[in-house]
Amino acid sequence: MKAIDWNPWHGCHKKSEGCLNCYVYRHDSRYEKDASLVVQNKDFRKPLQKMKNGSYKYPSKTLFYTCFTSDFLVEDADEWREEVWNMIRERSDCHFLFLTKRIERLSSHLPSDWGDGWDHVSIGCTCENQNRADERLPIFLSSPIKHRFIICEPLLAAIDLEKYLSKKSIALSLGVNREMKPESVILIGLFLFIAKQNGKK
Ligand code: SF4
Repeated sequence: MKAIDWNPWHGCHKKSEGCLNCYVYRHDSRYEKDASLVVQNKDFRKPLQKMKNGSYKYPSKTLFYTCFTSDFLVEDADEWREEVWNMIRERSDCHFLFLTKRIERLSSHLPSDWGDGWDHVSIGCTCENQNRADERLPIFLSSPIKHRFIICEPLLAAIDLEKYLSKKSIALSLGVNREMKPESVILIGLFLFIAKQNGKK
């Protein structure tokens, strides 16, 4: 499965403790850009790009890492999201994966035919500490999502995820706080594992 980035918009607003050293802000500050301005990117319609022969530029089974320079559910992008859902629906031959610290906004920003989730969409809920896990995970686990995972990044403190883990959830961490003892991390999954599992569908 080929994996590529798709960032329909760029920029975000800091929402919680884990946003303190946001990589989008760090990256943009190097170029004196204001990362708090959420703007549409020129490859907004990337999944629908076509070749001269009319076939899609990105073939079936492409994994789109979606909205990795923002938050898919950021408020500023509400007016653009329906079009993004339409593109995701059209490319049901591919897989789309996004992360969010705004899982509480998901249910009111889903397409009307979402049902209990689309099989080609994976959603990750990020929790950086126990408070955020306890705040977000009950919402996340009761949301209609076919493929879900918990991501503890940046990991700011030990998090006990035991009560939230089940067969329908996988936890992973992309960033481990170097001050933490290894046993503090309850479970670290593998990003590629998820992609591989989704690719088998
Ligand atoms: S939600 Fe994500 S992208 Fe947005 S400010 Fe926080 S860390 Fe950055």
